[in-house]
Amino acid sequence: MNELEIVERLRRLCLPSKDLVLGIGDDCAIYRPRAGEELLFTTDQMIEGVHFTRAQKAADIGERALARSLSDIAAMGGEPRFCLVALAASDTKWIEEFYRGLLRLAKRTTTTLAGGDLARDQKYHCDVMVCGSVPRGKALRRDGARVGDSIFVSGRLGKPWDRRIEPRLELGLGLRGLATSCIDLSDGLSLDLHRVCMASGVAAEIDRVPVMKGSKVERALHGGEDYELLFTLPDGKKAPRGVTRVGRIVRGVPGTMTFEGRPLEPRGYDHFRKQS
Ligand SMILES: [Mg+2]
Repeated sequence: MNELEIVERLRRLCLPSKDLVLGIGDDCAIYRPRAGEELLFTTDQMIEGVHFTRAQKAADIGERALARSLSDIAAMGGEPRFCLVALAASDTKWIEEFYRGLLRLAKRTTTTLAGGDLARDQKYHCDVMVCGSVPRGKALRRDGARVGDSIFVSGRLGKPWDRRIEPRLELGLGLRGLATSCIDLSDGLSLDLHRVCMASGVAAEIDRVPVMKGSKVERALHGGEDYELLFTLPDGKKAPRGVTRVGRIVRGVPGTMTFEGRPLEPRGYDHFRKQS
């Protein structure tokens, strides 16, 4: 198969979308925004040897590549609209499988594949950009946490890194107009909570974490790749089902955090931190 044939196959697999005036096949896609919506943009890379290996199924890698970006859309309380996929690989069978996995999740979450780029490289890598949408002014941001808010997380933390990601889109939608801040846990609770605290100018106290069966508290606090949502709710607001209250926002030096009364350092995953 050559590039044109792959693109043509993809085009035939794509969902029709009334917002997408023009999809795969021209120099650019054309998206017509709906009245009163604000668009969210996020992009996420996956690199062979860093985020995946070729021993994993290509379909799982494709699904995961989209899921990571959809998790960002969920964290903003958004609905996915379309995605653009840039992929470099050399094996056409692998490419086909990658897209099969990606498009399976795209269909389930009504994310239209609007275009992208394909290149040949011995080291495989991809970049998935997703555009989502929220009603004007309704996006969930990191900078709204207030002193006295309770802190919640969805699911259980400390997942193994290659576990399937289920982007929390429905929860994100349910938090619109309710949560004061929200973030997805991609780099570990300690680091992602620290980001919320810094953006909001507050400190936090954590009393407990819901640990996944077979995992450890340490991993639940600092391991990355959980892709659950962490959010804050003001006193008196009822939390959605299936979430756990883990602590509260307090006054203090911005970014200061404690776990069970002891200082908690932001030690989640940082690509640029020197390994000790
Ligand atoms: Mg994120």
